[in-house]
Amino acid sequence: MSADFYSLGTVDEAVIRAERHKARALRKSRWWQQKTASGTCWYCHRRVGYHNLTMDHVIPLARGGRSTRDNLVPCCRECNTKKKSALPIEWEEYMQSLQQRHSE
Ligand SMILES: [Zn+2]
Repeated sequence: MSADFYSLGTVDEAVIRAERHKARALRKSRWWQQKTASGTCWYCHRRVGYHNLTMDHVIPLARGGRSTRDNLVPCCRECNTKKKSALPIEWEEYMQSLQQRHSE
């Protein structure tokens, strides 16, 4: 592995680590408690109970998202798994299919 490649990797890792740390702090905040109090997933709108909600970055850290209040949403395990494994385009399609289901 070249030195350039390695240093490039560590810069990104450091940013992501710092943002994860911020997210952890926000997860303990009153703001997050209020956001999860209803127990509703931000994506599929199902009520799963607040203890089944995880914190999700709407724009993932790896794609330049940050741990800011407008980029963090409560997300059920199913959506979380789906989002992590799906390509951005597949996730778009999933979101569209949810919207269709809601309007039926
Ligand atoms: Zn969901």
